[in-house]
Formats: sequence, structure tokens, C-alpha cells
Amino acid sequence: MQIIRSVAELTQYVAARKNQHQTIGFVPTMGALHEGHLSLVERAVGENECSIVSVFVNPTQFNNPDDLRTYPRTEEADIELLAKAGVSAVFVPSVGEMYPEEVEVKKDFNLGSAAEVMEGKFRPGHFQGVAQVVNRLFELVRPNRAYFGQKDFQQIAVIRNMVESEGIDVEIIDCPIKRADDGLALSSRNALLSADQRRRAPEIYAALSDSVEYSKSHSVRATHDSVVERLDAIPEMKVEYFEIVDARTLLPIEEWDESPDVQGCITVFNGKVRLIDNICYRPF
Ligand code: AMP
Repeated sequence: MQIIRSVAELTQYVAARKNQHQTIGFVPTMGALHEGHLSLVERAVGENECSIVSVFVNPTQFNNPDDLRTYPRTEEADIELLAKAGVSAVFVPSVGEMYPEEVEVKKDFNLGSAAEVMEGKFRPGHFQGVAQVVNRLFELVRPNRAYFGQKDFQQIAVIRNMVESEGIDVEIIDCPIKRADDGLALSSRNALLSADQRRRAPEIYAALSDSVEYSKSHSVRATHDSVVERLDAIPEMKVEYFEIVDARTLLPIEEWDESPDVQGCITVFNGKVRLIDNICYRPF
């Protein structure tokens, strides 16, 4: 596996692969890799002649400086995992390499209304930062396919909008959420949980999954409230938002029959650690 740290080297590497007419599969990550990331990586490796993974904690998508400061960084272990997974190249740039002062890196994307709700509302500027880094990485890596996890359900919709509004020729592939055996969605931030917080964290998915059954005989509002009340009753847990939305527009619904595809998207503070998860309500 080639370890690439500069834009110049990446550009050269990609040009050589393109000259050989290889298809490029790309997985952008912020590192602290776990089985969730690796499920995307395995697909990229399996479906493309060349697979490239980026590991970059992108400062422009953090609206909370503490979150950026405490974000787990495990570069050496990440590189080892990627080499074992058969990745062709890993791109590990510095902030200066990604955002050099002399280059005006494009920002202010048309991301549609999907970027305004939920994460967009509670993390102002977050999706513009995500769009900025993904657009820059797409320009450098020029992938045929890019792989994203459904754990960040809203992010996929926003990336699709960005790709469409920028006219980028790439196939966006979404991959299912990987969970721990107890149901907790794998996340780099899980490493920040105390033992007690980690023990309680599976309640998030338990509440979501139980609510799917509950939703069959209850209103949207009652289903919503049952999840929030259950989680808010747990020590150290506080739901930041829980929205039951149309899976395409991401706008809230009031009746189950308003949309054929309904998703529940949740963000919960477990102590100071902000965890997200989501679940499909319709179709069953
Ligand atoms: P991150 O490093 O958090 O920016 O995540 C990089 C990519 O991995 C994103 O597309 C995430 O949605 C995806 N990802 C993170 N956690 C999981 C998970 N538990 N299952 C599937 N994909 C995931």
C-alpha cells in the first residue's frame, strides 16, 4: 500500500492509475478506523481495480472546537488496518496540504433543503465543511465510485445534492450501518465514552428498534415521544433531536402514510459525547 501525504504525489498517483484505465474506488474517512469504516473499504477494494482511502480530520466541518480537539486520532493503527485490507493507497494529508493559503479551496455549495434540517440546524456550517472537503478530495482522487455509510444518513443525501449541483461524475454508493454485538452503531467517538456511558449506549438502538414495532399501532407523534422519553430517562443521556422524516427530502412527516420511505434520525448526548444513529420505519 502506498502512503501518500502530499497533493502533488496523490495527483501523480491518480494520473498513473487513470492512464492504465483502472477504476478508482474511494472511501473518505476521518480515521480512528473501526469495522464500520472497514466495511466500506472492503467494498471499495472488491469492486475497483484501485482503492484509495483518505484519513483526514477535516477542521472545516467541526462547529465545536472541543469536538475537534478531542476527536480520536490513531494514524499508525489506521494505516496498518488499511494495508491489511488490501487498499491500494492511503492519503493522509496535513491541514496545510488540504487547505494551502495560496489556493482558494471552493466553499459555499448548493446543498438543497436536506442540508438545513437536523444536523444542519444543530451544527451550523457542518455540511458546508463536509461538502468542501469531499469536493476537494473528489477533485484530487477523481473516483469512479465513492463509498459512504448510512450511519450518516443525512450526509449521504447532502453529498448526492453536492455531486449533482457540481456536475461531478461519480457513483455514490451507500453502505449499511455496522453495529457492535449489543446494537450500538460503531463510531470513532465511542472511544470517548466512559465505562458507564458505554454500558448505557446500546439503549439508543434498542429504543429505535423497539419503536419500529410500536409505530405499527401508534401515531408518528406518539412514536417520537416514546423514544425521546425513554432515552431522556437514562442517566447522562439527553436527546438533542429525534426526527421522523421522509427518507428522500429529510423533511419531518406527521402521518405515516405521507411517505413510502420513512426514517428516524436521532442525536443523543451521552455525557459530553454526541452520538448519532438512525432507523428505517417504512417500508417495513
Ligand atoms: P467518519 O470517519 O466518521 O467521517 O466516517 C467515514 C465514513 O464511514 C462515512 O461515510 C461514515 O458514514 C462511515 N461510517 C462510520 N461509521 C459507520 C458504521 N458504523 N457503519 C457504516 N459506515 C460507517
